Amino acid sequence: MLDRPPVFDDREDAVLTDAVAVLIESERALAELEATRIVHFAMAMRVALERSQHRPRAIQEREMALRSIAAEIGVALRWNDRTVQRRLGEALQIVDDFPSTLQALADGRISARHAAVIRDAGVDLDDPVTRGAFESRVIERAATDTVAGTRAFARALVEELHPVSISERFAHAEQQRRVWIDEDVDGMARLGVLDGAAKIRAMYDRLTRQARAIRAVPRPESTGDDPDAVDDRRTIDQVRADLLCDLVLTGQPTLDPTADTLPGGLGAIRAHVSVVIPALTAAGASDRGASIDGLSPIDADTARRLLAGSPAWDRVVTHPLTGTVLAVDRYRPSPAIQRFVRARDVHCRFPGCRRPARACEIDHSEEHARGGPTARTNLACLCTRHHTLKTETPWTARQRPDGSLEWTSPLGRSVTDRPERYVAFVPEPDPPPF
Ligand SMILES: [Zn+2]
Repeated sequence: MLDRPPVFDDREDAVLTDAVAVLIESERALAELEATRIVHFAMAMRVALERSQHRPRAIQEREMALRSIAAEIGVALRWNDRTVQRRLGEALQIVDDFPSTLQALADGRISARHAAVIRDAGVDLDDPVTRGAFESRVIERAATDTVAGTRAFARALVEELHPVSISERFAHAEQQRRVWIDEDVDGMARLGVLDGAAKIRAMYDRLTRQARAIRAVPRPESTGDDPDAVDDRRTIDQVRADLLCDLVLTGQPTLDPTADTLPGGLGAIRAHVSVVIPALTAAGASDRGASIDGLSPIDADTARRLLAGSPAWDRVVTHPLTGTVLAVDRYRPSPAIQRFVRARDVHCRFPGCRRPARACEIDHSEEHARGGPTARTNLACLCTRHHTLKTETPWTARQRPDGSLEWTSPLGRSVTDRPERYVAFVPEPDPPPF
């Protein structure tokens, strides 16, 4: 021993040495358990993939088997099923693409968090040989470094092995393409499109050229005598907007995989939104505003025009004073009932899901087609994910009079979801008007 003043006594040293030894052993055992868990998550994932092969239609429908299994495991582990679904996918990735990492984990040489770092960083390396080389170098590092140190090393190594070109980055970014809607004031709304710059610029250019062509049409000298003559005073911005609306609302897509199966193809599909309109406005006796889907206010003229014209719109006519619904598509719950159900449920009613009620769909617990009434005792908020789970997989839900939902999994596990208790309700004396 070196000649150093004693800082700790021997007994404390012995306790510490023991603690460290047990911690090392625990870490090793946890790693081994994690490897077992990954293998079994991956097995469940394979069952999901196997089952989805038998449902070869839409992607959405193929995912149903996976969602159902994720929900089964989630309920059993008291995990959120979205988390389970992510873990299932990650586990299969490790088993299939990172076999050495799984082995190192099973041997207790690296921890679960190290393994996750290796998978996260290496997931974009498509070539198995490159990936294998990456794996063995990072495992070597992970065996002697912290998670953060390993992550930095792994990321640098990926850059070295796989310099990402602009085309690759674009290919990734392009996956995020989408269309969305934003509310605006004064009865207006915005439609956004995110897609490749070339495509977006081409769209804008075509709209501009079409708009210029329209404006180049010679205007009549006088429109006074001919009621059909159009004096087009629209600005180029307005013409572009009108052209885009026209193309989207009435156009026929060039690529149409439904052409053989759907009468009229995609072009026959029309927009479907609800006009909520006060009865007096409908009758033309008032200019009180109406709304689209109960969300976007629209002016009275537009509402009357929509109400008189296209059959594609749900008509929800409300009482001028009370706002009570006078006429409605019976499948669709009235705004009052929707408000009640959303207030009662607070969030999606699948066990463990916290998706807020305002982002949920209102589901008939007992299917409407099978006689389930459009009544508060048969309606519950479900997010899109869990709504589809209930519709497309063997998962079932039964609603009790107190609003609790009894879910039964495909394997027969039953779990009850009760509505939140902290919202107080005053019972309404009158039955709903339908
Ligand atoms: Zn949900």
